Amino acid sequence: MRIFVSIKQVPDADDLRIDPVTNNLVREGVPAVINPPDLHAIEEGIRLRERYGGKVIVITMGPPQAENALREAIAMGADEAYLITDRAMAGADTWATSYTLYKAIKKIGEGDIYLFGRRAVDGETEQVGPQTGKWLGIPSVGYVSKFIEIGEGKARVIRTVENEEEEIEVPLPAVFTVLETINKPREPDILSLIKSKTVKIPKLSKDDIGAEPNKIGLAGSPTKVIKVHPPPKTRNPEIYRGNDAPQWVYDKIVKSLKEVNEVKETYVKPQPKAKVNGEIWVYIDHTGDEVNRVSWEIMSEGRRIADLLDTKLAGVIVGDDEVKPIIKEAFNYGVDKVYHARVKGFPFYINDVYTRALSKVIKKYKPEAIFFPGTRNSRELASTTAIEVDTGLIADCVSFDVDEKGIIYSTRPDFGGKEMSTIICPNHKPVMITVRGGVFYPIKIPKEGEVIVEEIEDLSTKFKVLNYTKLQKRNVLAEADIVIGVGRGIKSPENIKLAEELASVLNGVVGVSKPLADMGWYPKERQIGQTGTTIRPKLYIALGISGAVQHLVGISGARRIIAINIDPEAPIFQNCDYGVIGDIFEVVPGLVKIVRERGVPQ
Ligand SMILES: Cc1cc2nc3c(=O)[nH]c(=O)nc-3n(C[C@H](O)[C@H](O)[C@H](O)COP(=O)(O)OP(=O)(O)OC[C@H]3O[C@@H](n4cnc5c(N)ncnc54)[C@H](O)[C@@H]3O)c2cc1C
Repeated sequence: MRIFVSIKQVPDADDLRIDPVTNNLVREGVPAVINPPDLHAIEEGIRLRERYGGKVIVITMGPPQAENALREAIAMGADEAYLITDRAMAGADTWATSYTLYKAIKKIGEGDIYLFGRRAVDGETEQVGPQTGKWLGIPSVGYVSKFIEIGEGKARVIRTVENEEEEIEVPLPAVFTVLETINKPREPDILSLIKSKTVKIPKLSKDDIGAEPNKIGLAGSPTKVIKVHPPPKTRNPEIYRGNDAPQWVYDKIVKSLKEVNEVKETYVKPQPKAKVNGEIWVYIDHTGDEVNRVSWEIMSEGRRIADLLDTKLAGVIVGDDEVKPIIKEAFNYGVDKVYHARVKGFPFYINDVYTRALSKVIKKYKPEAIFFPGTRNSRELASTTAIEVDTGLIADCVSFDVDEKGIIYSTRPDFGGKEMSTIICPNHKPVMITVRGGVFYPIKIPKEGEVIVEEIEDLSTKFKVLNYTKLQKRNVLAEADIVIGVGRGIKSPENIKLAEELASVLNGVVGVSKPLADMGWYPKERQIGQTGTTIRPKLYIALGISGAVQHLVGISGARRIIAINIDPEAPIFQNCDYGVIGDIFEVVPGLVKIVRERGVPQ
């Protein structure tokens, strides 16, 4: 069995820092490492070889120094490695990267299994795996949490997304992107490390792999980064350092909740900046008859972009008749019409059927742009559809603008929010964009309009769902109005009850920083941040949290942030509305007492 593992070399996120003068990310001198999620793909490849025999072939597209990443993979136990490198390949987006990987794979000699990490920590697109699968014309199974069995030309795996788990059988060859929970990557021993230094690693140029020059690198990329900039400052912190901190915090809690409750989410129609012919579409993600809420969140932003471009907003949904109530509901969120690509017998997402259905309506109705909620299924669907309809896909965006020519500017965080990139897709239509959840608010804009049903005839699929489970995991953190965040300043797991008490009197929910979840002090599903949950409460109170960027990206949508920290230099104080320089063990008990006595507006 030939097992390909595709990896990426990235700057070590732990060593990246912001220049305090220019506010830019300092890249110089930062060591490069294997993208951490790819380590799990390498490990899984080696484990599959240990179970079933064969060869693990690691590939990467990158500059000459990416060879080091391949040597590390060899040291872990991979058999062969190829470096795909050429100046002309620099600046590739996921479309051009996946095309290049596909051409290289064809050259090296195809495999049975292709493994990718779920995401790259620098860009978080989650696109390259499924897009490579699409170029190769083979099935792609994203978010694999377990390989159950491989045999008779088939693989049986568990696929886990936010609230669904499926046991799936696919014919090989196939692409699999693996979750970080699938295994624990091994550490290479010293001998293997030494041996890996002398292994010959062939280099493949664009000519070696026969890549068309207009499909690689920056020139071949449908999407272009036009600006890289520091994250915007959105808060104006008021800091308190005095003896009456509990009372001060109480007053700020009351003030914050009063202000936030008074603001009703209303839609203010903007003046058009340009006129385009195509419509703006929002893909409505669902599990059977249940909509994924992020679809409604991004609908309001879709409405705004449609109005800025003087065009119509449409919802687009793929599914069977179970989705009819969802279609009806969409008209509460500002759509002028809904396209329903009807796939009889497929109430749940299946990549090949849903890609075909969505591509068919796109090709027929030619929208200007499509916004997808940043859920796992939607990201995968957007990835494969972008290759099918031959357009660019911009990932994980958090803000948008348009210009007078009708170009959409999409801005997304890189390196977990240390830096922002603004990206356009100037020459391909539709512009496809995935939007991070928890950033926009669902706004009720009641409308009436038509439903256009497109019957999808070709319902053939390579996927066999052997078992489907809807996970009953309500994400209490994401839904909470008040969140009390606890960080390492709490010092011991027993002390978390202090935060629980505060949460209880405020009717809130406790969340934690990553170290607390990692140490097992609190459940992992209560972790806030880049690798945890993005929250968007009315009020977030951070207790003993320093305010690392990876934490901040998870709380940027909070309406008000109050921080209590003993260290005046803690970055959280630059990123809150109200801050108390003080000891949580002194401030919080007093605060709990006052809230208990006087209550707060809910
Ligand atoms: C790839 C990657 C992903 C990550 N994802 C996440 C993520 O999703 N979420 C996340 O949170 N982190 C994440 N991190 C980790 C992040 O970089 C920080 O290490 C982490 O957020 C720090 O947690 P903390 O603020 O609790 O701890 P620390 O940084 O140690 O801060 C503790 C704070 O407590 C204060 N303190 C101590 N005693 C008291 C006291 N008595 N009263 C008041 N204050 C006190 C200190 O002054 C300090 O500021 C990630 C890191 C990486 C590399």
